[in-house]
Amino acid sequence: MDKEQCIKDYNKKIKRIIISEEEIKEAIKQAGEKISASYDGRPILLVSILKGSFVFLADICRAISVPCEIGFMCAKSYYEGTVSSGIVRITMDLDRDISKYHVIIIEDIVDTGRTLNDIVKLLKSRNPLSLKVVTLLDKPDRRLVDFKADMALFTIPDFFVIGYGLDCAENYRNLPYIAEYDTEVD
Ligand code: 5GP
Repeated sequence: MDKEQCIKDYNKKIKRIIISEEEIKEAIKQAGEKISASYDGRPILLVSILKGSFVFLADICRAISVPCEIGFMCAKSYYEGTVSSGIVRITMDLDRDISKYHVIIIEDIVDTGRTLNDIVKLLKSRNPLSLKVVTLLDKPDRRLVDFKADMALFTIPDFFVIGYGLDCAENYRNLPYIAEYDTEVD
């Protein structure tokens, strides 16, 4: 397939923008202010769940005006395509003891809730000073376990979304907005 055709097909899958760059920016500004106010003076560790949350982490850490450290974990629940595998695997763990930190998990999206349910249990067992979950997106209609984030910037219906760190088979993470992925178009 030539490059032009490839780009055309790539764009065809972007059905419509559901959250714009400006809306994301404003919501992150407000979330950053809230976090800064409630954690001021405490040792914060932001734990980004890779890969999907890397863009959100980069923006939210810069919206936080108090000192904070950054850590990364990698969890996989979707392998290829748009259907959940139902398996959560920790493929990369944190590199430090979290017992001296107020941990804030930074996640891209809560869908069935399984990934965060498992990660929260695991991190709680390591006795952090406190543990909260901040997610960019929440899809409550898809929940399979009883899980609620402490802060969700946007609640969305049951669409498969791409952009702003979220992928489909590793593509589209670099879109600056959140879009609905078109599962119908070939
Ligand atoms: P959960 O364990 O809550 O079902 O799934 C969480 C993970 O599944 C997210 O971190 C994300 O990687 C992936 N996921 C869930 N819904 C979507 C979606 O609409 N779009 C994309 N790209 N990934 C999703």
